[in-house]
Amino acid sequence: MGDLSKNFSRAEFECRCGCGSAKVDPLLIETLQTIREAAGIPLRVNSGVRCPEHNRRVGGVSNSQHLLGKAADITWTGKAATLYALIYTLYKAGEIPHLGYVKLYRGKNFVHVDVRTPKSNLVAGWE
Ligand SMILES: [Zn+2]
Repeated sequence: MGDLSKNFSRAEFECRCGCGSAKVDPLLIETLQTIREAAGIPLRVNSGVRCPEHNRRVGGVSNSQHLLGKAADITWTGKAATLYALIYTLYKAGEIPHLGYVKLYRGKNFVHVDVRTPKSNLVAGWE
């Protein structure tokens, strides 16, 4: 049981440098919760909110959505490519309308999800 939604807690989104930054956009939580329920198994948040210092350290782009609490890098016990496919299907079905961008990192086996506005051309093109 999470304190942000049924399955997610603020602690999972805290900046990994220990600074305490954990201001998450509710639309991101709503999106992840829908994905979680469709997945039927836990999603792990590898990276949620990042402060500017930590974002630089991990090589994030300067305008990263992680800085705004609008992005999460997620993984599960299955292949990231399968998770990506699930997210695509949910978006096409109108289940996660706030999705702004998604990217599969096949080699590192995680999926970046964010609720940026305006949406990226990728996601807008799926409509
Ligand atoms: Zn930090």
